[in-house]
Amino acid sequence: MGLGGLGAALAGLDPKRLEAAEPPRRWDKAADVVVVGSGAAGVPAAISAAENGASVILIEQQPDIGGHAIQSGGAMALGGGSRNQKKWGIEDSPERWHADLITWHDYRFSDREIVWAFAVESAATLDWLVEKGLTLRDTKPGNPDGGPPTVPRSQGPVLAGWDGNAGGISPTGSAGTALMRPLEATARRMGVQILLEHSLTDLFRQTSKIGRVVGIRATTNGKSVAIQARRGVVLATGGHTSNVIVRRAFDPRLTEEYQVVGEPYSLQTGDGELAAFRTGAALWGAANQTLETGARTHVMEKPVLVGNQYGYLRPGTRPTSDLLRSPIFSRIRATGLPVKDFQDLIHVNMAGVRFVNEEATGYTWWNACMAPNAKTPPGVNGGGPIWAIFDADAARREEWMCAPPFVDLDGWFFSARTIEELAAKVMCKYQKEPLPADALKATVERYNAFVDAGRDGDFGKTTPKYKIQTPPFYAAWSTPCAHDCLSGVRINGRAQVIDWAGQVIPGLYAAGESTGGFNQHGLAKCLVFGRIAGRDAARSVVRT
Ligand SMILES: Cc1cc2nc3c(=O)[nH]c(=O)nc-3n(C[C@H](O)[C@H](O)[C@H](O)COP(=O)(O)OP(=O)(O)OC[C@H]3O[C@@H](n4cnc5c(N)ncnc54)[C@H](O)[C@@H]3O)c2cc1C
Repeated sequence: MGLGGLGAALAGLDPKRLEAAEPPRRWDKAADVVVVGSGAAGVPAAISAAENGASVILIEQQPDIGGHAIQSGGAMALGGGSRNQKKWGIEDSPERWHADLITWHDYRFSDREIVWAFAVESAATLDWLVEKGLTLRDTKPGNPDGGPPTVPRSQGPVLAGWDGNAGGISPTGSAGTALMRPLEATARRMGVQILLEHSLTDLFRQTSKIGRVVGIRATTNGKSVAIQARRGVVLATGGHTSNVIVRRAFDPRLTEEYQVVGEPYSLQTGDGELAAFRTGAALWGAANQTLETGARTHVMEKPVLVGNQYGYLRPGTRPTSDLLRSPIFSRIRATGLPVKDFQDLIHVNMAGVRFVNEEATGYTWWNACMAPNAKTPPGVNGGGPIWAIFDADAARREEWMCAPPFVDLDGWFFSARTIEELAAKVMCKYQKEPLPADALKATVERYNAFVDAGRDGDFGKTTPKYKIQTPPFYAAWSTPCAHDCLSGVRINGRAQVIDWAGQVIPGLYAAGESTGGFNQHGLAKCLVFGRIAGRDAARSVVRT
């Protein structure tokens, strides 16, 4: 198998399609630039292509635009001397931004060509976003989430006339709406044709391993559509976190039980990367996906919500009622219970055994969750479900309503009058064997003894405060969730996709979480490289 076929093989695709497809005899649609994915990378790519004179088709798999970006907190780590930084008297430069990024924690596996291009274009991108309709919050920039904390470079948008509630314009009531809706409006105003519910399946290359990428195949409502891209295709499908096979190529522990932040609004199934691999594109910066840098890299997250499937759908401090009004609430099914104090619960694994200090965060917490336990069969990866166990007193302290729509009774939240009954009730497709009642009872008794003693003799939790003793008792889904994708196809500083021979694949661009080479978290690199990709694709000269 050639390296170009690696992605296809990983995804279990039809072995006849290990290479890029050859162009069809007839195109159904055509544009100068075709952008795939309408998130933080895709919409800026479409706008910048249109601004540079290209006709643009933007396809999006879901019924609405925005991807993870529209659900995000909207905080953008863009610095290097932007107008906003100057307004607040903050001195910065591309050189300073670059130096800060490459010396921050263990960023040595980031590709400096990418980091430099980012640093150079970062301030211009923020200024450009404002020109394209973004209104920045009128507060001094802060330090980027995940660092480096040297110069204030993080700012977020606001949407005039929007009260922040989830509604028709926002799936979750998060600030990402103030980023994506104005950009969507600008793209439409500039003539970008947005095709919703169109899903990329393939790229067309003039001949399968050489020549330009000349278009894409998508499916919509079961029909196949061939779309010609006269100047270029920009892949911006947002990474592979939703694809269990691909994410396990980076970390075999990432088995199916780990749910994905950002679902079910949009999926990151690696479609862009897999199609690119079939054209011969290289994988890049793979270490960033698994590296434990000490920076908050967000590859996995400790759920901020327990008792629902997705664990993380309500960033910030928005009231639960916002999510209830969300147009996607029927797919989320439950808001989840926000944990204020991890003294109020214990975490047990699928063997019913406590295994970690519940107050731990980051790698300390999720490495313990993903470790094998007494119920892990030989040869099996992943740590299985993690359950938050608590009692009625804890629910009262946390002010939790342990009923729908706050919790999901269909496999993610259980209650019972005794601990033994609770164990018997836990039925979830990821809990392969019943939660052992005797083990769970012994775990709770041991923890209660630690409360009496004023010391956690097993995992060093700060003076355990509360016994688990008052019925009803509860078990709530509290398993780590996958968040960022930090590796993907190789691009250069112009967002052109590079093959395994180190050569540019003509006509193919990529941006955002589908790309590798830079382990910065979040929106900023997606916005910057989306803008670069659209511009470069629009300006490319095609020789016929
Ligand atoms: C809850 C939450 C909060 C966050 N908060 C922040 C924050 O405050 N600051 C920050 O910097 N980052 C934040 N992030 C991360 C940030 O949102 C992402 O890094 C960013 O959106 C990634 O951009 P992207 O364009 O690569 O992917 P996305 O924004 O996910 O967009 C990808 C798009 O491609 C579409 N797509 C996928 N496959 C196909 C296909 N086959 N065909 C067509 N379309 C397809 C998807 O449906 C989606 O619309 C947050 C993420 C989440 C989920």
